[in-house]
Amino acid sequence: MINFLDLKAINQLDRQAMLEACERVIDSGWYIAGNELAQFEREFAEYCGSRFCIGVANGLDALILTLQAWKALGLLSDGDEVIVPSNTYIASILAISQNQLVPVLVEPDEATFNLCPVRAEAAITDKTRVILAVHLYGQLADMPALNALTRKRGLLLLEDSAQSHGAAVAGKKSGNLGDASGFSFYPGKNLGALGDAGAITTSDETLANTLRALRNYGSHKKYENLYRGVNSRLDELQAALLSIKLKSLDAQTLRRREIAQRYLVGINNPLIKLPQIQGQSALEFESHVWHLFVVRTPCRSELQQYLSTQGVQTLIHYPIPPHKQNAYKEWNELSFPLTERLHEEVLSLPMGPTLSDDEVDSVIAACNRFVVADAS
Ligand SMILES: *Cc1c(COP(=O)(O)O)cnc(C)c1O
Repeated sequence: MINFLDLKAINQLDRQAMLEACERVIDSGWYIAGNELAQFEREFAEYCGSRFCIGVANGLDALILTLQAWKALGLLSDGDEVIVPSNTYIASILAISQNQLVPVLVEPDEATFNLCPVRAEAAITDKTRVILAVHLYGQLADMPALNALTRKRGLLLLEDSAQSHGAAVAGKKSGNLGDASGFSFYPGKNLGALGDAGAITTSDETLANTLRALRNYGSHKKYENLYRGVNSRLDELQAALLSIKLKSLDAQTLRRREIAQRYLVGINNPLIKLPQIQGQSALEFESHVWHLFVVRTPCRSELQQYLSTQGVQTLIHYPIPPHKQNAYKEWNELSFPLTERLHEEVLSLPMGPTLSDDEVDSVIAACNRFVVADAS
């Protein structure tokens, strides 16, 4: 069986260094907000090219707290609108509605699955304050265009970088392409902890200081509370493990690009539509870190079932669009035809830094063997 993602194998790569880090943290007697966190925050800010990194408990909190911080700083207020792609993972949208802000769903660009700058501009009203760009599946949204748009219209630009650690455009990385960026280090992400973890990167010092307070009960100073904050901290143990895994991230991204390139060259079944890459080869293409390798097919359930009989595990990202979720009943009757079609057609093939060439070739061969039985 070729697993969709072999987390156990991935974490074996750094096993010895991680065991030593665990010992160091256990023996330190200091488990929250200490040197390990400070060191990881320095390293990750430097990696992204941003001035500050603020560790938090998970990726959802990274987005929630950034919007909350902008509210605390008077840049946003209840009822303001945030433009967000309609085909994103629900966390991006939850972060908006949990702040009493209004998500404005915008259909993506069909070629990249990412926010379309033209549709985003058309959705701007006099209540719009933020554009939330999600780098879906590991590919950067069109940040040059979105930066130009937000500057022109006086809006804030927030990145959801939960799937795009290390993706870059013109040498500038995800996390340093807007006013602030939320990261997830959920175990299955390209940079994954051994539990929940997340972070915000920004080069805005006022925002960074506000976030440091918000994640810690709204307090800069023990027992003095400036804001109604929360408890959302990245603990020492996870920070120590993330410092180790960060060192392997670029090599693992390169391996993901090799696998993507192999898929792109090898799969040639007219029933399977491959992801579209602008410009150079996938191997060289810095703006995609291949968190997921997502194909489209009009016969998804047949393909998924067939691949499963061939020993290939696949997943669907995502089966139900946010506007069709019970959590957002008020949107269930809205129509986002492209988003709905994508959710019916997308299928994610195995992808991860420990997949071997032989395994990739087996997936390719199985994809190329796939045919649909004639219904008549
Ligand atoms: C994973 C993910 C999140 C949330 O991260 P958690 O750490 O699971 O809270 C947010 N946005 C996107 C696009 C994600 O993929």
